[in-house]
Amino acid sequence: MSKNKNNFINVNNSRETDQIEVMKKIADEAHCPFCEENLRLYHKNPILKEGEFWLATKNQWPYKHTKHHMLLIYKKHATKLSELESAAGSELFSMIKELEKEFKFEGGGFAMRFGDTDFSAGTVNHLHVQLVVPDAMAKDFEPVKIKLGLQWERRI
Ligand SMILES: [Zn+2]
Repeated sequence: MSKNKNNFINVNNSRETDQIEVMKKIADEAHCPFCEENLRLYHKNPILKEGEFWLATKNQWPYKHTKHHMLLIYKKHATKLSELESAAGSELFSMIKELEKEFKFEGGGFAMRFGDTDFSAGTVNHLHVQLVVPDAMAKDFEPVKIKLGLQWERRI
C-alpha cells in the first residue's frame, strides 16, 4: 500500500493544498480523522447537529461554487454500506430535512461515497454524506461536480 493511501485515508483524492498537508499528517498518524476522538484534532468547524448516528458540520474544504457544503459524519467508524444500522437512514433524512429548513436551502444534492477509496474517490474512508447547495446565482458560477473513482495517474 502506498504512503498516500491506508485504511483511513487516501491523500490522492485530496483537492486543496492545505487539505493535502493536513491529510498527509493524518496518513502518517495512521488513524481515522472522522472518528470522534480524532475529529476534534483536525476539524475546526462547529458541530451543527448531533444525533444517535450522525454529526452534521460544515466542510472545512468546501467544493468551489458552493453556497453550503455540509458533511454528515457517521458516528461509528464504518466504511461499507453494510456496516450502517438501518435506523441511521431514518435519522439521516430527518437531519437533512432540518438543515434544509434551518438554512433555507433553495436546492442542491447529497452523496455518500463508500468502500475502497480508489472506487469512491473519498479522501477519508469513514462513511459521510456530502450535502451541497450550489452558489447558482453567483456571476462566476460553474456547476458543482461530485466525482466517483480515482484516475489511474493519481494513484501514487
Ligand atoms: Zn473513522
